[in-house]
Amino acid sequence: MLHDRKVYTQNWNQTHKEWRRNYNKKYSPEWKKNNREYIKNWRKHWMKKNRERYNQSQREYRLKNKEKYEKYSRERSRKLKLEVLTHYGGNPPKCTCCGETEIIFLTIDHIDGGGREHRKKVGDGSTFYRWLIKNNYPVGYQILCYNCNCGKAKNGGICPHQINK
Ligand SMILES: [Zn+2]
Ligand SMILES: [Zn+2]
Repeated sequence: MLHDRKVYTQNWNQTHKEWRRNYNKKYSPEWKKNNREYIKNWRKHWMKKNRERYNQSQREYRLKNKEKYEKYSRERSRKLKLEVLTHYGGNPPKCTCCGETEIIFLTIDHIDGGGREHRKKVGDGSTFYRWLIKNNYPVGYQILCYNCNCGKAKNGGICPHQINK
């Protein structure tokens, strides 16, 4: 790559000999000395133009990589969740009540209740999973799917699945 660029520059100088000579003649140190103001203005203009271009490309970069970044953080939190779920619910983890195995449907359930208050205290989602890891996977938790979790909460602590059994 570096070598290519060197060759490229050499070739460019070869094919632009005339242009180069004129350029050097026109923009001699003498000329520069006499046109300080002009150079200053030109540079200012160039900076402004390029700053706009720079900002624009920064904006475009962020926009273009938004999806990539979101996908990356989604994958990272999925891995974290899987790690915690595997600890509490075996491999592959599944809902203790109905056997659901889709990771997205699964959540950590506080067996004795009080999950909502606790999550409010330590945080939700990835923060909660990190809290569990940091505390060496405390006992009193199990895996439930959102349906069973919600069913349990709305049914006085027992998922309707368990009553109809
Ligand atoms: Zn379930
Ligand atoms: Zn259930």
